Amino acid sequence: MLILSQSEVERLLPMHDCIEVMASTLAALARGDAVLPLRTMILIPDSTDVFAVMPAYLGAPPTIGAKIITFFPRNHGTQYDSHQGAVLLFDPETGGLAAILDATAVTTIRTAAVTAVATRLLARADASTLAIIGAGVQGHVHVESLCAVRPIKRLQIWSRTRAHAERLAATAREKHGLDAVVAANGAEACRGAHIVCTTTSAREPVLMGEWIEPGTHVNAVGASHRSAREIDTRTVVRSRLYVDRRESALKEPGDILIPLEDGEITPEHIVAEIGELLIGRGQGRRDDREITLFKSLGLAIEDLAAASYAVNAARRQGAGVSIELGGARHAAH
Ligand code: NDP
Repeated sequence: MLILSQSEVERLLPMHDCIEVMASTLAALARGDAVLPLRTMILIPDSTDVFAVMPAYLGAPPTIGAKIITFFPRNHGTQYDSHQGAVLLFDPETGGLAAILDATAVTTIRTAAVTAVATRLLARADASTLAIIGAGVQGHVHVESLCAVRPIKRLQIWSRTRAHAERLAATAREKHGLDAVVAANGAEACRGAHIVCTTTSAREPVLMGEWIEPGTHVNAVGASHRSAREIDTRTVVRSRLYVDRRESALKEPGDILIPLEDGEITPEHIVAEIGELLIGRGQGRRDDREITLFKSLGLAIEDLAAASYAVNAARRQGAGVSIELGGARHAAH
């Protein structure tokens, strides 16, 4: 069995490659080539902490596995990432455990890659001003992934802690050569933006529909359970809504459940899954003035496909650590 650490996954899963892996994985989902139950989420009592188990099967190439992960928002600002755990891959021939990978790296990279896939399909081709609301891990990695799919020149950042926004602005200038500025508030960050990303652990909206200008594409990345939302009802109502998966979008996030329960939208407000657009089913942006919204939840198949890509690269390069864990038939039988 192969073990890949955080730094190895980061090296073996370049953003450009991961974007293409995510596109083919979401297309496979739309073709029905995956078995993907809803994740099991335990909301730890009297806290904002979450423990989640995310199993899945992907058909081509056959991939069996699960991500097991904690989401502890209070880790933010400490030495620990807010997402920690492992992705487990099983051998589809023997059923044996084939690999264990650090889930922090897989989650970080694949999430920003999926947003890039959605943005490539939905944002205006000339989108050059990006707004990021929430300068945590996802805020940082989204700058990298979106620069890969649109000609981004300017970055406008708002984050609850100004120093974190300033750090992201400095990184964006140094690494990506962007004209990066820190905004005084979310409304200012959205002014003139062609793409807006919300990447926070907020439980109340940090993006208001009235701030969004015509023609914008919005990626709502945080808020993955019922008691959290990042975008207000007006944002959802004003937008053509796209999701990674309908079933998850209609069961998991406050962002969608609250407008649904308030009768402000119906399930038909979801125009399409991203994978459906990829296989030519469903309609994307129709003109340069409508607002498109991608609500990202994160799917186990994304973790398995990203992990599988990293494992194949590791095997080619002889990277990682191999151990004998078990799985042999007992000698007495
Ligand atoms: P981090 O812990 O690195 O960053 C958290 C961010 O949230 C920081 O920018 C912080 O701002 C901001 N924040 C926290 N609380 C509030 C609040 N009450 N109001 C406004 N801003 C707040 O987390 P990540 O970047 O790793 O994750 C960000 C979000 O993305 C989380 O909700 C996470 O669950 C989600 N996520 C979604 C995935 C998907 O597939 N859709 C996968 C991975 C993560 P500041 O630093 O300025 O204080």
